[in-house]
Amino acid sequence: MTTAAQPGTTAVVTLTGVTKEYPGGVCALRGVDLAIGERELLAIVGPSGSGKSTLLHIVGTLDQPTAGTVTLAGHDVGTLTDRRLSALRAQHVGFVFQAFHLVPGASALANVAEGLRYCGLTRAARRRRAADALERVGLGDRMHHRPHELSGGQKQRVAIARAVAGEPDVLLADEPTGALDSASGEAVMDLLHELNADGATIAVITHDMELAASLPRQVRIRDGQVVDDTHWDRIAVESGTR
Ligand code: ADP
Ligand code: MG
Repeated sequence: MTTAAQPGTTAVVTLTGVTKEYPGGVCALRGVDLAIGERELLAIVGPSGSGKSTLLHIVGTLDQPTAGTVTLAGHDVGTLTDRRLSALRAQHVGFVFQAFHLVPGASALANVAEGLRYCGLTRAARRRRAADALERVGLGDRMHHRPHELSGGQKQRVAIARAVAGEPDVLLADEPTGALDSASGEAVMDLLHELNADGATIAVITHDMELAASLPRQVRIRDGQVVDDTHWDRIAVESGTR
């Protein structure tokens, strides 16, 4: 199934015919075509083992496909050196993972500032920007707390602050509410909706159908293939209301 970005918007990331075979012969993705348009908020949904995390890694250029092409911010990532690819990723992609991946023993502020290390800012500027990002996620009063002094929901908000502090073109979240109780999970999803309303492009990977259904677009994946994408329905609805 081929999808394109919403007409009139630019695709931030485009995957064409992406296949991923792991050593040992597991084929995790089989010919995936996917475009993520600017300011979209979409769910990539599918059962465990369907290839969601593999897709996220490839969209975020953490991993390369076995076949097919990935274009990020206009660059064909397969043609770049590791060094240029790291720079491209640092500039354009923010990641949020189920398990937060914060540095233990470092304050919320230090965790967020560390994420800005490759942005070419001075240390003072990184800390200022990190503080702004923490304010934005509602943690202005927790900047000097370390991860073990924060709740799960607060830790995930720190991770989101870290992901958005560099103003990436796309935020990729892999099961962001998977380790949270339902109230904290809802707060995290509310935050992602707010960031999207402010202009962020966000893809949320989830196995939770209800969570997926609450987002404007659902891309359904099964056995490494896109089996459904509500993208065109969404465009029809939006153009009908304008
Ligand atoms: P999901 O995130 O939807 O649960 P994954 O993308 O993690 O799915 O995995 C898709 C398939 O690829 C699974 O069969 C999994 O076992 C396999 N897989 C994932 N990562 C690796 C790896 N590093 N090496 C080998 N097989 C892998
Ligand atoms: Mg996964």
